[in-house]
Amino acid sequence: MHSSWNHGSTYKLKLGLFLLLSSALLMSGCKDTPSPHSAAAPAAAAPVTDASQPVSFWVATDTHYLAKSLEDGGQAFQSYVRSGDGKMLPYSDELTEALVYEAGQKKPDFLILSGDLTNNGEAASHKELTAKLHRMEAAGTRVYVVPGNHDINNPWARSFGGDKQLVAPHINAEDFLRLYEDFGYNEALARDTDSLSYVVKAAPGLWLLMIDSAQYAHNEEYNFPQTDGRLLPSTLTWINENVKLAAKEHASIITVMHHNLLSHTSMAVSGFKLNNSQQTLKAFRQEGLNLVLSGHIHMQDIRRDPEGTADPAAPVYDIATSAMAVNPHQYGSMTFDPRSRTVTYNTAAVDVEGWARVSGKSDPNLLNFKRYAEETFAVNSYEKAMSRLQDSPFTEAEKQSMAETMSSLNLKYFAGTAADSLDEIRAMPGFKLWERMEGGFMSGYIRSMTEHSGQSNVSLKMVLTTQ
Ligand code: FE
Ligand code: MN
Repeated sequence: MHSSWNHGSTYKLKLGLFLLLSSALLMSGCKDTPSPHSAAAPAAAAPVTDASQPVSFWVATDTHYLAKSLEDGGQAFQSYVRSGDGKMLPYSDELTEALVYEAGQKKPDFLILSGDLTNNGEAASHKELTAKLHRMEAAGTRVYVVPGNHDINNPWARSFGGDKQLVAPHINAEDFLRLYEDFGYNEALARDTDSLSYVVKAAPGLWLLMIDSAQYAHNEEYNFPQTDGRLLPSTLTWINENVKLAAKEHASIITVMHHNLLSHTSMAVSGFKLNNSQQTLKAFRQEGLNLVLSGHIHMQDIRRDPEGTADPAAPVYDIATSAMAVNPHQYGSMTFDPRSRTVTYNTAAVDVEGWARVSGKSDPNLLNFKRYAEETFAVNSYEKAMSRLQDSPFTEAEKQSMAETMSSLNLKYFAGTAADSLDEIRAMPGFKLWERMEGGFMSGYIRSMTEHSGQSNVSLKMVLTTQ
């Protein structure tokens, strides 16, 4: 389970995917070693719900919450945000408040957060976020979390003051357990001894297998947060034991983990999919675990394996919900019907504007958040494309045209709606110029968006296996 540094495939794509995906993710390295954690298994509290009624719940991921106290809006923070991957860090607090408010209004039974809860694992961010999650639970929505690759032992934790970045205190795995004990761990039916994974009864007939796929034991030694994920052999065994327990109760199971089970892009990027995704997929298929909720890639994408409906193998789905921190700031709104075992999934954008009005905010960016967020993301993509095209042989006008095309494409791609706009994007003057670029990046990019067209990336209806 040891592999060498793996920067090659990402660097080949630096002009391309860098524009699309998290820059932090591309700083990928692959080393893994089991990280032991203590585990106890207190009794679970049964949810008080009518056993025959469908339940509604939400899944959000990559909230990348940054505590307000860690930034002063100064030069260092501004340039950090500008050089980043499109996260709405200046309004992290407001965005989360809007989510808490919306949960209070719409009353989903529970909220799943599938990792990268914080920007870079800052202790202050975890503390503030958990305070908000406690308020959400007090208002009637239970919360279940797992960590992502940014949340634990992260040496990149920073605060921003004036023109300086300062090292900020971060948390370790024990701190994570303590801070998030009310968000899954204390209610768990069982916990894995070798990771922060647990299983919980979320609703009548529905268990959540909350998997910790992140590797953080060596972050401080490496001096960066390890990007790639995997399931330990012992965790796979533990999963198998819990699937058998679920079978005794004829429950259905949804599996949640930060890293992807399936490939969500045909482009060769390491660190998104589990390192042992083949082995895990095989195990999940055998165990009838046919729905995974993931995040990490920051884009909205739904895949199934096998892709083709002609294949006799029962499909396994992986829904990668786009990052809550990134435009269009959406989550998955889901239902589970215990009679038919049917699950539905539809994306919904957090209504920051509605929350801002009700809360009497005067900041125009909050009152017109949808437009503000879209423009900010578009400008970020445009500027990234322009800087990457800097040394290319194109004229200034051509570069601008190409950057505009990339910006439009990114807006759709991250939202999961690119397939609907391909004709429109192909008609843009910059599109042909991208196609002329060496390496054929644009055609690869377009191909990665079209390869499973016809299947929605923003909604799904499927039936869970009954164990
Ligand atoms: Fe992330
Ligand atoms: Mn991640």
